[in-house]
Amino acid sequence: MSHRDTKHTVNMRSAECNLQPRVQLVWFLSLALMLCSACGADHPDPSGGTRAPEQKQAEAKHIILITVDALRADRLGCYGNERATSPAIDRLAAAGAIFVNASVPRAVTRPSMTSFFSSRYPSEHGVLTNRHRVPDDEKLLAEHLLEAQFHTSAMVGASTLDSDRSNLGQGFNDFKLIGSDEQLTRSAENYLRSQFARKDRREFLWLHYMSTHLPYDPPAPYDSRFTDSNYAGHADGRVETLWNSFTGSEPFEESDHQRVVDLYDGCVAAADAWIERVIGALQASGAEQDTLLIITSDHGEELSDHNGFYGHRLSPYIAALRVPMVFSQPGRIPTGTQVEGLMTSLDLLPTALGWLGLPPSERARGYDQTASVLHGQASGRQFAMREMELEDDFVWGVRDQNWSWVYNPKELQFSFEHNGSTGTYPIPGEALYQVNESRAEDSNALAQQRELARKMQAQWEEWRAAMARGDASIDLDSEFAEELEDLGYLGYED
Ligand SMILES: [Zn+2]
Repeated sequence: MSHRDTKHTVNMRSAECNLQPRVQLVWFLSLALMLCSACGADHPDPSGGTRAPEQKQAEAKHIILITVDALRADRLGCYGNERATSPAIDRLAAAGAIFVNASVPRAVTRPSMTSFFSSRYPSEHGVLTNRHRVPDDEKLLAEHLLEAQFHTSAMVGASTLDSDRSNLGQGFNDFKLIGSDEQLTRSAENYLRSQFARKDRREFLWLHYMSTHLPYDPPAPYDSRFTDSNYAGHADGRVETLWNSFTGSEPFEESDHQRVVDLYDGCVAAADAWIERVIGALQASGAEQDTLLIITSDHGEELSDHNGFYGHRLSPYIAALRVPMVFSQPGRIPTGTQVEGLMTSLDLLPTALGWLGLPPSERARGYDQTASVLHGQASGRQFAMREMELEDDFVWGVRDQNWSWVYNPKELQFSFEHNGSTGTYPIPGEALYQVNESRAEDSNALAQQRELARKMQAQWEEWRAAMARGDASIDLDSEFAEELEDLGYLGYED
């Protein structure tokens, strides 16, 4: 129900107050139903709540979450890449459920993962950058699961997610920072083989891979799997090279851009190979049918879709905000389930708790998508809100099923000088794009769709008014991020 419809319904009340009691009761019930369905929208729910159905029987014993940093959905085969970048993930998606329209509110690692685990927006939990620490009073997924007697374990490859720096380790029995994806995979294999076969406890395992994060430097044989051996240009996947292209000091030709995409696709294939090994170990443990496996990413990645930029931090667009979202549990999830409805990272917590038969979280903003996965039912989510911190202010966005609205009232833009050249990432003050997953948002329809833009703005204002701004302390050990900033790599921060 739209904002306008709700107002109309409420206005009817004064006109109809003389109705007979029985009619009044029917009217009241209809109104309650209508208002309740309005609560299903993303924004007008200041009290939070998961809108989950009553507690039900557990659908799984264990849960594994695999996040691949900066994995852009449309570079996976199951999301339309014609190259064979992701045979293992494609098989899982074909046998399980795939969310076509999944996204995150912010394309930066620590804010995004905090939203995954808390089901709250970055401005609410206060983790706006990779320097903010997750507040102690946020209740994260692992804490819910620990309370429910799960054993909780994390293996992450991103230093920015390290528990000491991020405080994301709340609720984890074990939290390991593992520097290489190879090592991380080996640890995960050992863990799955030894622990998931145990009958006496439930497990939550979180793996975070870095394969697809800058620099795009895939290991053999993936370094040459998709590249053109005749290419003789200077492009590679190093941050310095991409920065020089962005600032214009060493601009790319089309063949240079293609080289970067080829290398990125190699990174996707490497990530897929690690995941294939994890799946193999899960199968060997005998627990595959009792385990909900979710594969997603903390954000997407721009591959020069806007302003010649490669990376994610500067982007308020779908290229950086759309993520893959694949659910697998053989025997539980109907084969080939494709969910077209919107899903966001804030839905992970309510969905995981719903799936595992646990009580819903009081503070969660997200939706329990269990029925979407099992029966293709709509979750009620009508909007996905975006908020991008920039220069101590925000660029905002609203995505619905068909449109993406970008709002930058202060015309903030990133600009930086490097090697005598300046790179800028301008963002329009306001723009409206028709969602077309096969290409970038490159055609601003604002002039033709003013009314729709005003409607999306009203949704945003209502949502914004209901948000309490959170406060997170700064991670004092973030010398690494500071060094990067000094070097001018702020735009490439995790
Ligand atoms: Zn990231």
